Order: sequence, then structure tokens, then C-alpha cells
Amino acid sequence: MLMRELVEERSFFGDLTVQPADGLLGLIGLYRADERPGKLDLGVGVFRDDLGATPVMRAVKAAEATLLRDQATKSYLGAEGDARFVELLADVAFGAGSDRLTGVQTPGGTGALRLGAELIAHSRHDATIWIGAPTWPNHAPIFREAGLPVQTHRFFDVANAGIDFEGMMEDLERTRPGDVLLLHGCCHNPTGADFTAEQWRQIGRLCESRGLLPFIDLAYQGLGDGLDADAAAMREMVRDVPEAVIAYSCDKNFGLYRERVGALWVQSDETALVRGNMLALARSLWSMPPDHGAAVVRLVLDDPALRADWAAELDGMRARINRLRAALAACDPRLAPISGQRGMFALLPLGPDAVDRLRRDHGIYMAGNGRINIAGLTMDSIPAFVAGLAPYL
Ligand code: PMP
Repeated sequence: MLMRELVEERSFFGDLTVQPADGLLGLIGLYRADERPGKLDLGVGVFRDDLGATPVMRAVKAAEATLLRDQATKSYLGAEGDARFVELLADVAFGAGSDRLTGVQTPGGTGALRLGAELIAHSRHDATIWIGAPTWPNHAPIFREAGLPVQTHRFFDVANAGIDFEGMMEDLERTRPGDVLLLHGCCHNPTGADFTAEQWRQIGRLCESRGLLPFIDLAYQGLGDGLDADAAAMREMVRDVPEAVIAYSCDKNFGLYRERVGALWVQSDETALVRGNMLALARSLWSMPPDHGAAVVRLVLDDPALRADWAAELDGMRARINRLRAALAACDPRLAPISGQRGMFALLPLGPDAVDRLRRDHGIYMAGNGRINIAGLTMDSIPAFVAGLAPYL
């Protein structure tokens, strides 16, 4: 028999399972094709200004011009990326340095989460990752693809538009020592609901008493109440627990989304051992992170004038979001909780049918779970939005 006849005719890839399309990307296409003048894009999670644009920040533009003029080489750095970027960003995130923290640059917050997941999988392959429901849809896949089991715990009560803290603490009674608790540092995605300082302290005590490793995802520093205010809870927790992991994204607070800028820090007494493993894992994942965005952030943070201008523009972005929150909340008592929530997102109590009807009947586009991007609104579009929404609340 000829070898050829033994060879199967089917594709090498035929056993792969069909993957659902990314819901938000599908929404972009539908929105573009919609010709209605008053259509509203509250789907994609990027900051927007009053004109609906997601502009490059002034300090970023200035730093890019400097880079273009002065950058002398594009030769490799190393797996750690831009060390000065990491050092300056640590100052923004933690306020003060600590020799128990070790950090590396990563491709965005996603890269930081994945690197952290790989590090955990290599040191405790049976650690369960506990994630509040609902959360950013990429959280569970990032940890699962690193081979780690994921469990969800209660977090947000949609009907009451608030955190179900009691339910959360009750669910976390099922954790085992060595498990990992994933926490949003601020500006929770998709709910906008952040823990109070006292709740953070309770979570810190729970981590200590049950031997849990806190893994903090800080992707929106400066978009809630301010750069220091948004990091305060994270800083206090990191100070009070022996070990912690912090994944950071600069993609929102520097508006660098597609440049993929982030960092991962681990706090531990084993910094040298941890760092060696972070670098070895990073080498096999992406060898070294993309340079441009991190170099831009380094230039901004290293120059007092650019740094001040970046912080001022970020203040303006945050003020816009919080103005819209207050205006939205004032329109209808059922939207009142939105004024006390923070960041770009709010989760409305809408089923898939209502989300669909709002899109078809009113040209209002939002994520399938009812998440809206507050920054997609303007003071002028709020009344029509609330009028369309009201029958479904
Ligand atoms: N964490 C959360 C909570 C997010 O919302 C996002 C982005 N949507 C990320 C991490 C990842 O950010 P990046 O684009 O930097 O990968």
C-alpha cells in the first residue's frame, strides 16, 4: 500500500473547537454600518472626549516627537524591557520603592496578567484562581490557558447595583491555603463598583488568615478619583500582606492602547528567585516586550513638565467621566448608583433582549451583558440615552 493512502485526508487542525467571535469586535462592525445620525457607541472600552474621539495625549505626542528625533538605536533590550520605565512606573503605582518588589515590563496589562499566571502555574500548579463575577471577560481565559483552575465567587448584585460583600466573603470560605484572589485595583470592569477602604482591609485580613495570594489588576489608575487615591487601597494591602502580585496597564491612563504597555510586579522575600523565573517565562512568551509605548511613558515620567501635563490631561479625562456619571445618575433614580461608582464602566440591569432592542430601535450600542462605557456619552446625548433606556430598567 502506498504511504499516501494511509494518510488521512482531514485537516491537521480539524480537531480544534470552534471559538465564539469577540462580541465587542462584532459590535464595531454593526456600529460602523449604522447610518442613523444619533447612534451611540457605548461598547468598546476606550476613553472618548466630547467629540467621541480617543485622542493621543499631549505629553505622549511630545515624547514621541523626542523619540523620533533622538532615539539612536532599536537594538534589543532584554526580557525585562525598559528598566527605567519600570522604575518610574513603580513610583506612580506604589508611591515609594521597596526592595521586596521586583518588576518587569510586559505587553500591556494582558501580558502582565498572563506572565503572573504562568509564574503561579510554575510555582503552585494546583492553586485555584478566585475571580469575582462578573469580571473582564479575558480574566478567566488568561488563567485557564496557563493551566490553572478558575473558580468564581459572588461579587456584584446587578439588581441592587452594588457589591454583594457578604456573599463574596461567604464564597471565599471555600478557598484553600495557596489559592489566589484576583482583585481589581480600582475602576472595576465591567461594574464600576470598587471596594471601600474598610472592605479592602477585610479582604487583606482574609488573605492573611486563609493563606491566599492577592493578585491585583490595576488597569485604570487615575481614572477613578486620582492617581494616588486610586492606588491607595492597593498600596495598603501590599504593605500589609507578605506576598502579592500586581499587574499594571498604562494603556488607558496614557491612552496607549495599541502600543501594549504594562508591567508585572511581585512582592516577596524571594525576589531574586521570582525575578529569574519571570525573565525565563517572558523569554519564552515574547522574548522582550514592545519598546515604543514604554519608552514614551519613560520620557513622560522622567520629565517634570511632561509628567505634570500628562497628570493634568488625565485629571481632565477623569473629570469628564465623573461629570457624565453625575448627570446620568440625576436623570433617573434607578441610575443613581452610577454616581458613586468609578472608572469608565457601569453595568445596567438589562437582559440580552433589551440590549438588542436598544441597538435596533435606538442605535444604542453596548456590550451584550449590559455594560456601558460612560465615556461614550456626552452631556447632549444623555437625555436620548436615558429615554431609550427607561422602559427596560
Ligand atoms: N484588566 C482589566 C480589568 C481590563 O479592563 C483590561 C483592558 N480592557 C486589561 C486588564 C488589559 O489591558 P491591556 O489593554 O493593557 O492589555
